[in-house]
Amino acid sequence: MVTPASSSPSVLSRTSRETETAQAAGFFGEHPAASARSTRQASTGATAGSFGRWVVFSPARSRRPTDLKSHNPTANPSSGPGADTPKLSCPFCAGRESECAPQIFRVPPDDALPWRIRVIQNLYPALRRDIEPPPAPEPEVVDGEAEAEEQPGERAVRGFGFHDVVIETPRHDVRLWDLGAEGVRDVLLAYAARVRQLREHPAVKYVQVFKNHGASAGASMAHSHSQMLGTPFVPPSVTSRLNCMKGVFDRSGNCSLCEIRSKDILISETPYFSAIVPFGASYPFEIWIIPRQHLSYFHEIDEAKALDLGSLLKTMLQKLSKQLNDPPFNFMIHSTPFGLSSSCLPYAHWFLQIVPQLSVIGGFELGSGCYINPVFPEDAAKILRELDCST
Ligand code: AMP
Ligand code: ZN
Ligand code: ZN
Repeated sequence: MVTPASSSPSVLSRTSRETETAQAAGFFGEHPAASARSTRQASTGATAGSFGRWVVFSPARSRRPTDLKSHNPTANPSSGPGADTPKLSCPFCAGRESECAPQIFRVPPDDALPWRIRVIQNLYPALRRDIEPPPAPEPEVVDGEAEAEEQPGERAVRGFGFHDVVIETPRHDVRLWDLGAEGVRDVLLAYAARVRQLREHPAVKYVQVFKNHGASAGASMAHSHSQMLGTPFVPPSVTSRLNCMKGVFDRSGNCSLCEIRSKDILISETPYFSAIVPFGASYPFEIWIIPRQHLSYFHEIDEAKALDLGSLLKTMLQKLSKQLNDPPFNFMIHSTPFGLSSSCLPYAHWFLQIVPQLSVIGGFELGSGCYINPVFPEDAAKILRELDCST
């Protein structure tokens, strides 16, 4: 039994089927949709959402889902006179390339043409490419795979790795979703090309591609950019996500993302991708863009799929901006660690997660690892589905 913010006690509503199948099952507060939703999830067996994390759905904490807006809207760099001229203090603007850390590659590659995208080293990298990589091979990551020779106690590896920045446009006033679908496609193809390069390094086990937009989402630079970190270890959240996916696969024989069927959480579908608000969304208006085909590795994306994803990602970012008052957000591409055994691939399915930052993470979340989401995923999906961004 859990008591949400409302004065009356809430009911723990979790069906036995959900207990069986869903690592992502949640507590439901007193909301008219609660029991209906749990029945619906039970009938579809869908489990996607929080990968083992409990989520408290507590609609009493916000008035109406449509009232939820960002209190920290990101300043739109395209507004104001002279916004399209390079900012004197911005090293990511065209003409200031010499103030950046070394370039890795550019789009287009021909130096005689102006660049549209630059992939550069991070001037202040979290991990360093110029030190010796850790010698020992990492153990396999997923339960049931090769045994890890893990010794109890503390463990440290050198801070080796790659930390790159992708400058998505030469213009200071252009946001990612202001680019055409082809422009977003080219950014996605640049990510994929760089991930493929990093994969060639024997010590790199995983590449996390991510974007911070807005100061409260961690961005220090206003100019549109994203980043990636190639790490000499598989991050623990990747391991636990794969273990949850394996658990679903072992029980049901299905990939947990392929088996999502519910139309109630669907925002939009394109030939190759679905955009949903996941059943166990930890954050209000969280969006997942999932390949409709079972695909394990983002970096294998081809041009046609990248264009399709570019168009859908642009639409989703436009919708979040319009609905939530231009909120700070993060997006992360969740792919599969390199060199994973082929027996793991049937349940390893990549996806892109977008998280609008509408509230700060507090003590409950930090202490318990549980998240409080004031908006039911079905309600958020309906609002975003019906929102018209054509004007
Ligand atoms: P964020 O803090 O998410 O906005 O990401 C911007 C990144 O750009 C940070 O990780 C900075 O370390 C990095 N950065 C800042 N200035 C430069 C520069 N002149 N050249 C390369 N990277 C930079
Ligand atoms: Zn700039
Ligand atoms: Zn799948």
